[in-house]
Amino acid sequence: MKGLLVAQNASYVHTNLAVRLLREQLHKDISILEMTVNEDLHRRIGKILLAAPDYILYSAYIWNWTDIQRIGEYIRKADPHIAQYVGGPEVSYDVEERLRNEDWIDGILRGEGENTIGALVECIEGRRGRSEVAGLAYREGEEVRVNPLPAYASDLNALIPASYTESMKNRILYYESMRGCPYHCSYCLSSEGGRIRYRDVKKIKEDMREIFATGTKLIKFVDRSFHIDPARSVEIIDFFSEESPADTGIHFEMNLEHLDREVAKHINAAPAGKFQIEAGIQSVNPVVNAAIHRKTDIDAVGRALQMLDTEKTHIHLDLIVGLPHEDLESFLAGFDRVAKLGAQKIQIGFLKLLRGTELRRRAEEFGIVYESTPPYEVIATADFSAREVILLRNFATAVENYYDEARFREVYHAVQKKGTPPSQFYLGIAQKLQDDAHRRLFRGRDGKYRFLHRHLNEKYGRDAPLYDALKKDFYRNEDRYIGHVLGIEDPELSKNEVIEFLKRNPEFASDRNPHKAAKRVRGVRLANTKRYYLYTDGKYIRHFDERR
Ligand code: SF4
Repeated sequence: MKGLLVAQNASYVHTNLAVRLLREQLHKDISILEMTVNEDLHRRIGKILLAAPDYILYSAYIWNWTDIQRIGEYIRKADPHIAQYVGGPEVSYDVEERLRNEDWIDGILRGEGENTIGALVECIEGRRGRSEVAGLAYREGEEVRVNPLPAYASDLNALIPASYTESMKNRILYYESMRGCPYHCSYCLSSEGGRIRYRDVKKIKEDMREIFATGTKLIKFVDRSFHIDPARSVEIIDFFSEESPADTGIHFEMNLEHLDREVAKHINAAPAGKFQIEAGIQSVNPVVNAAIHRKTDIDAVGRALQMLDTEKTHIHLDLIVGLPHEDLESFLAGFDRVAKLGAQKIQIGFLKLLRGTELRRRAEEFGIVYESTPPYEVIATADFSAREVILLRNFATAVENYYDEARFREVYHAVQKKGTPPSQFYLGIAQKLQDDAHRRLFRGRDGKYRFLHRHLNEKYGRDAPLYDALKKDFYRNEDRYIGHVLGIEDPELSKNEVIEFLKRNPEFASDRNPHKAAKRVRGVRLANTKRYYLYTDGKYIRHFDERR
């Protein structure tokens, strides 16, 4: 019989680790069909039908479940002989409800599938009864039967690693060096994932050498133990520094508040840009953290950031909107504390009430109302009105466009000098986005400059230091005349003035011929200085200020 593992990723750059692991454990030829949810639905259905499988195993997550439902129903009607099974975090819970309501599903394989997929395939092929497949949920007449999960969890060292037959040049690869998590955050499925298991570092290195050969530029390395076993962490970090290809980045999720000094030292010794660290702060309010079983110590995160060379390693900090007991004021105060830490990115997510999590079970207790379809995002809570949640969606857009894009750092600091905390700056932008919701406000790169220019003028009047800051941000990033973008008159220094400057400072452009060098230099008037910018191939190299 012909089987098909179907993966549908959130976008082309993502890859599905689960189907690759399942294929390897099966010891049997089975095809993988990997698509994205952005592809036309009927085209995806066409690909599945063209593969002519006898049975399909869908890998289900919150980002593809609604599509799987439509595809599964369609396929049942198009070819009722194809058996359809689902597995994955989105379907491992509430299985009775699913099997009663969705008759296109022949069975749900709950929990980790690597140890049970073989039995399921034997069952589909008629060599084993359904009651003999651990973790399988299925219908029998009017009844739904749910077999217990296997008594043992997958031994990570016994797993045959995923293999990659295709080029992964422009794609992100995921790798699990451990499963389970020592923490118990009530909104997260990893906290329910059973005991913690590690893969031996020796095996990790062997797997990684295979992965490096795929040409991937980014590996998302899932290991939540970096603060638990510093010696193991150091060995892994040094391995990446020494052996990973120069253009391959490694992304870690880390609990920064417990960052070990020695681990930090080894991260700092890596080539610049090798590591990206994402750290979940989620909330800095202790009442909120107590409700979700977290203990975030923001001062300890600050100390960790001081240990790290943040010029070399990019740090992303995450916050979540909609946690129990968090209101707008508390969220914004938390944002200001996080912003002070100076991470390159602050990612604002919206609480997802995932099936199987404690927080979903207790949602009513906290007054949390959420979408009934995936991704089950928060609509309102006892402490956050629905309108405030929408306002914070615009706030997240403002942060993504004006904080995470380092292009606007001068303006960011200048508004703070005027006494506006970061949260109020982004809230102002969010408010404007909301008020003008019917207009498309950011049209490309230039649109962002224009929008910010308008916003600063409306909010602060025609303020010279703020305009200077915007100008500095602009010329730091653009080798072109600001007036053409903002639709204003603000002449640059003349070519002659630039040439005279280069005669006085021949070392600035490392070119003895000032006439030739002047082609790469722009002169700009700021409040008390003339600033000269040097570019190469349109990219900013350096600047020099001459007091007027
Ligand atoms: S949110 Fe992170 S730390 Fe908390 S349980 Fe999940 S994986 Fe562990």
